[in-house]
Parts: sequence; C-alpha cells; structure tokens
Amino acid sequence: MTAKTREALADVDAATVELHDVHKWYGTHRVLDGVDLAVRPGEVTVILGPSGSGKSTLLRVINHLEKPEIGHVSINGELIGVRRQGDRLKELSERSILIQRSRIGFVFQNFNLFPHLTIVDNVAAAPVATGKLGKPEALELARELLGRVGLADKTGAYPRQLSGGQQQRVAIARALALRPGVILFDEPTSALDPELVGEVLAVIRDLATSGTTLLIVTHEIGFAREIADRVVFIDGGKIIEQGPPSAVLDKPRYERTKDFLSKVL
Ligand code: ADP
Ligand code: MG
Repeated sequence: MTAKTREALADVDAATVELHDVHKWYGTHRVLDGVDLAVRPGEVTVILGPSGSGKSTLLRVINHLEKPEIGHVSINGELIGVRRQGDRLKELSERSILIQRSRIGFVFQNFNLFPHLTIVDNVAAAPVATGKLGKPEALELARELLGRVGLADKTGAYPRQLSGGQQQRVAIARALALRPGVILFDEPTSALDPELVGEVLAVIRDLATSGTTLLIVTHEIGFAREIADRVVFIDGGKIIEQGPPSAVLDKPRYERTKDFLSKVL
C-alpha cells in the first residue's frame, strides 16, 4: 500500500457540528423554526420525528444542500451556513462550500450510487475528482474500504447487481473515502427489505464505536437506544426534546414525543 493511501486511511479527527437559530422556509411554510444544536466530536446523535417534521432538511442544511434563511451552521467552528450581518446575508463562495462539503459524508435513503460505475469506481470517484488521490491510490483505498464493509468480493460489480443492503454498504464506504469528520445518515435503512436492515446497522454500529461524529435520522428505535449518545426529537421544525436515550425514549416529557413513540415502537 502506498504512503498516500495509508494516509487516506488514517483516523480522522471527529468534527463538531453546531446549528445556531436555524430557520428554513418555503413560502409561508416554516420547515425549520429556530433549531439550536451542538454536537461534540465523536458524538452519535439520532434524530427522530414524524414525517414532514424537517429531519431531512436539517441534514441538508448541514451539508449545504439547502441554505437557511436565518441562522448559521458550523463544522469545527468554521462557518458553513449563512448568517445575518446587520441586514446583509453573508454568502460563502462556491469553492468554500465544496471544500466544506468534502469534509461531510452523506448517506441517503436510496443509496444514490452512480449506476454506470462499478462498486470500486463508485468509492474511488470522489478522492480522484477532488484531486486528493491519483487513480491507483484511490482504487487501493476503495478496495480497503469495501473490505471494511464486507464487500471485498464485489468490487467489480455494478450497483444493480447488488442487494439494497449491499448497495447501502457501498454508499457508506463511498462516504468514508473523503475521510469526513462527520457523517450524516438520512433514513439509511428505510428503503431496505427487513432482512437486509441488520447488515447496514452493523456497519453503522462499527462507525459509531470508531469515534466518528454521526448524525442519524432513523425510525429504528432499538438501534437508537443501543448506539445513540443523544436522541433528538423534532416536530414542526423545532427540537421538542433531546437527551440520552434513557430519558427521551424511556421517559419522554412531552405529549408529542410520547405520541410519536407510541406509533413507532
Ligand atoms: P422529514 O425528513 O422529517 O420527513 P423534510 O425535511 O423532508 O421532512 O420536509 C419538511 C417539510 O418541508 C415537508 O412538509 C416538506 O413537504 C417540505 N419541503 C421539503 N423540501 C421542500 C422544497 N424543496 N420545497 C417545498 N417544500 C419542501
Ligand atoms: Mg426525510
């Protein structure tokens, strides 16, 4: 293995993520309504909430896929959102957005793999595109990461030849290829047949114990109880309550949380 590949595999410093008074709206629809959240390095945060409560938007704002109207987001103390300076919005350049986004992994519900690329090329694509690694080193890195998610024997396959659980594991390996300080998961197991959920949760569990900062939107309450340092319940674009699983899941204080949990448990 080359020195560059080894370097690309070394442990990454886990990131902090902070949202300060984040508001996002479409027309008159307030999708995020003043969200404050501070995630410590290595913390595993599970975000719960009913459909339409703003969970995906919250992750998308962190990853620059959406811009907040008010408030700001920072990763490791570096501003990545938009903030009001007096009445003026401060916009980040496209270039700084791309740099910051490359430090954040994002795993989608529907995998979003490149259908025309093999598995190993899917994982190698970003380090090559961002100029971090040459093609041979990126392929070496991709093979190593695919081994870690149990897919060493599938590197030459195309996404359509894999099960949903395997595709999602590729998506996780792809997210790891840029050595992100934080990984965002948006309902990573909701599109899977029930018998394939476990293999994906097992990979996420490994990441959780490796000290990476994780924000995970999921309805898997048992999994949340097992791995979360903190559970955040969101409804109507607001954080209703948050705390350790033993508090939020077992002794929720608010009716809305109790009502939600009674439906998903
Ligand atoms: P969740 O992930 O919790 O189900 P979302 O964050 O996807 O919720 O969406 C929250 C609300 O914002 C929903 O009512 C949704 O219809 C609305 N919404 C999301 N994206 C857009 C958009 N691009 N334009 C208009 N409304 C949107
Ligand atoms: Mg969603």
